[in-house]
This record gives sequence, structure tokens and C-alpha cells, in this order.
Amino acid sequence: MKLSEFKAYCLENKIPIITDEALNFIQELIKEKDVKNLLEIGTAYGYSAICFSSERTQVDTIEYDEVRYNEAKKWVNHFNANVNLILADAKIYEGLNKQYDLIFIDGAKASYQVFFDKYQKYLKPGGMIVCDNINFHNLTMDKTRSRSTKNMIKKLGLFKTFLETTEDFLTEWYDIGDGVTVTTRVK
Ligand code: SAM
Repeated sequence: MKLSEFKAYCLENKIPIITDEALNFIQELIKEKDVKNLLEIGTAYGYSAICFSSERTQVDTIEYDEVRYNEAKKWVNHFNANVNLILADAKIYEGLNKQYDLIFIDGAKASYQVFFDKYQKYLKPGGMIVCDNINFHNLTMDKTRSRSTKNMIKKLGLFKTFLETTEDFLTEWYDIGDGVTVTTRVK
């Protein structure tokens, strides 16, 4: 199976995967900044991790859903990708022992701040934290009745304010896919 067919398979199974635009953007970043170690929060079936990885770029990726983790294992083997899969809840996982050039946050949106706070210590000097879907389809509180969606919008809003106001990090905002941020440490 080719990558394009794997992507179609993910979409058929209603697996939320990275947009082509965001993928191209991050693949360019990987090349430009010569990213050798990449950590991803939120594997799903491994589509983005497999696309980010190469002989030069090793990807560690964390997923807490066992069914998705097992699917990802199948596809990482199929593509012989330079990807290490970790079955764990990224909110509490403590097994990492290296530093990363790029940390890609693509797990539950309500937890972006938790992921950011927890994983920033694994960033190499000059490394980047990249968040996907930061606009969350521009959904606002008044457009949903769901309590959990409202909660997610609220938490994502607070996280965006944090990115805008923190003095320790500098964030660039890109209108790519559903919104991508690239954050680097300045202090
Ligand atoms: N990065 C994938 C891609 O583009 O191919 C898509 C990831 S999907 C948007 C988000 C994934 O994060 C889901 O599979 C979900 O189960 C996982 N996830 C959400 N919260 C998590 C957590 N706390 N720990 C580990 N995985 C989590």
C-alpha cells in the first residue's frame, strides 16, 4: 500500500489526520531546521508520524488508545518507518529520556496547556513546539450546546492567551490547515 492509500484508509475510518497543508508546512520545517528528533503527542494511526519520519528524522509518538496504537504499529512496520510508538496517556507519561528538536502537539485540544507545560522540558535549546488545530474550526461557545465542546473551546482559548502573553516563549501563528503555531523558548 502507498502513503496516499494509507491516508485514504485513515479518512475512511474517520480518523482525524493532519491536513495536507499543515503536513507540508511541518515537513518543510523539519528540513529547514534539520530536525533529528521529533516527539508527537497523539499518534492516531501513525499517518503524520510516518510522514514526518525519515532516515534522518526519528519520531517518538504517544497514543493512549490501544486500538489506534495497534493500527499504528501495523503501519509503521509496513512502511518500515523510523518511528517509535509509545502506548500511554501523554498527560501522565514519564518514560522519555531524550531531548527533541521539535515537539508536535496533536492530542486532545482541552489538554494542550497540560502537554505544553509537561513536555517543554524535553525541548533542545533552539527547539520548537508546534501545535495543530489551534483554531478548532473557529468554533465559538455560542455555536455549540455540548458541555465538553464548550469546555474544550474555553481551555483552548486560555492556552492561546498563554501563548500570546508568556514572556518565556515566542509564538508565530500560521493560518495553515486549521491553524498552526510554532513556539520557541526565548528565556
Ligand atoms: N497526529 C495524527 C495524524 O495526523 O495522523 C492525528 C492525531 S488525532 C488528531 C489525536 C490523537 O490523540 C487521537 O488518536 C487520540 O486518541 C490521541 N490522544 C488524545 N489525548 C491523548 C493523551 N492524553 N495521550 C495520548 N494520546 C492522546
